[in-house]
This record gives sequence, structure tokens and C-alpha cells, in this order.
Amino acid sequence: MIVQERPIPIRIQKNEVLLRRLPKNHITRAAIESELARRWSGHRGEQAVDFSLSKLPESDYLIFHGMRLTNGQFYFQIDTLILTAYFALILEVKNYVGTLYFDPVLNQLIQTNLQGEEKGYANPVEQARQQQQELKKWLEKRNVFLPIEYLIIISKPSTIIKTASGHEQILENVLHVQYLLSRMDKINSTYKKEILSTKELKKLSRILLKEHTPETFDILPFYKIPLTEIQTGVQCDHCSSNLPMKRHYGTWYCLNCQTKNKNAHIQAINDYFLLTNDAPISNEQLRKFLQLTSANIAYKLLKTMNLSCKGTCRDRVYFPRYAKPN
Ligand SMILES: [Zn+2]
Repeated sequence: MIVQERPIPIRIQKNEVLLRRLPKNHITRAAIESELARRWSGHRGEQAVDFSLSKLPESDYLIFHGMRLTNGQFYFQIDTLILTAYFALILEVKNYVGTLYFDPVLNQLIQTNLQGEEKGYANPVEQARQQQQELKKWLEKRNVFLPIEYLIIISKPSTIIKTASGHEQILENVLHVQYLLSRMDKINSTYKKEILSTKELKKLSRILLKEHTPETFDILPFYKIPLTEIQTGVQCDHCSSNLPMKRHYGTWYCLNCQTKNKNAHIQAINDYFLLTNDAPISNEQLRKFLQLTSANIAYKLLKTMNLSCKGTCRDRVYFPRYAKPN
């Protein structure tokens, strides 16, 4: 059973919005585009693994995607966590192409891509082992003593996996996605002792969801882009024109393709929250961002979006529905 669905990662959502709202000739575009391509590729790799996992019997496995937990000092993130009554399994998914060489001496992963270029990465086996340690501590603090396994899943069947001869044990937990289910059968047959009852498993699942803290990412400071460089206005999702839509008789009207869309401001307001890392928005800021002149219309739009707000009439600010005013 999938307990926590895999969302489109927040960094992908924010990079997409930023690209949509940066001038066509902005100096940072290339960096954002390459970051976005890399993140989409990683996300697609994880989806390939999800497809394999969808064949598992629903009732025996609890699947959590993109979990982010803390042991007090820092957060640790687990791409895919699978819980059973007998063991926990961490999957670290890698979507690399070409040849992967696990260097046992330098404890590093070297990728040679299809163009023959080399690139080094931190050893994902080490990464997964650290997640295993952190999860172990996290569970033990909650009196759960479940054995934890981990696997590194290479999501492209054509990727070649290598290491130095005599060091093959380093690849013990590294496998292609098509062998995931048979490996899970093997793990299953190793653990015969039921550690958690159905009730305890449900309880643990509730605690995991409660303590999961979604990642935040403040994109504009990250790329050193001031909000003033962001193109304002309501965008037309029909023609993707750069011209802002005009407010006209209770709807939004595209000057480029003549499309009308009553709800086009919703995306614009969500864009604002994504770009400002959920900063509250005032009526005046909204008018500026939507290129509206009427405070009354701005008020009505905010009201129909049912956002949470704080403050009295004059200094009222609005928050995205998922953020609590503080
Ligand atoms: Zn249009």
C-alpha cells in the first residue's frame, strides 16, 4: 500500500515556475534549465522504481515516498522507504546513464556518460548506509527495533555497473531496477520473525507521516535573483504567451490567443508563493503581481481562494492554504 505518494519534488515545481517567469534572455536560464533536466531525470528514475513496486502485494508492504525526518540536529531524506512487519527497506534510486564505476579505494562513484565524459559523485552505498543508521536511531528512539536493509537501484537497465576486481562485495546492494522484486523476495525469506503487529505497524506509519517534514527551498536567493526581475502578470496556459492576461468583465482575457479563463489568477498566486518560499502576500503586493488596479477585485480573488490570513483590514496578509500564519 502506498502510504505517502511521490509528489513532484518542490525543487522541480519551483524551477519550472522560475523559468516561466524569467525574461527570455536572463543570464541564469541555462543553469536553471540544466538543473531542471537533471531533477526531472532523477524523478523519472524514481517513477520507474514505483512501477516495479506497484506489483507488490498491497497488504504486506507500506510504501513511503520522499520521506524527510530528523533526529534533532539535521534532516535525513529517504527516497523510498518500505515497511513490513518483519523489516524495513531503504531504496536509493539513481538514474545515471553510461558506465558506473564504484571506486573502492576513494569510496567514490565515477560515471562515464554516453559521450565518454567522466563525472564523480559521492558513493550512493555510503549515502544509503548513513540513511540506514539515521533511521535506526529514529526508530529506536520510538522503541521500534526493526532490521533495516538498503538497496541502491539503478533505474536504467542499460547502465553498466563496474568495480575493481576483488572488490565485488561493494556492489552487493547495488542492482538494476528489473531485479528489485526478486531481491525483495530474497530479503523476505531472510526475515522470518514478526517484529511488529498490524496495529503497531499502523501506529508507526501514522508517526512517520506526522513527523515527515517536507523540504523547503528558497529559490530566488539560491540563484541570487531579486523578485524585481520576475515577470509579473497572470499568464495564459493556453498559448504560453509572455503578454499578461487582462482582467475583463470578471474573467481573464489573453491578448495573444483570445482565450478566456476565469481562474487564471490561481496559478499566478501559487507562482508567487512558490517563488517567495511562502511569503505572505498583501492586497497591494497581489495587485502588483497580477497587474491589477482595483483593490476590491484583488480582495475578492483572495477571498475566493480561501487562503488563511492574519491582520485587520489595512494590514491583512494572506498565506498559502498549507502554511500556518505565525
Ligand atoms: Zn493565450
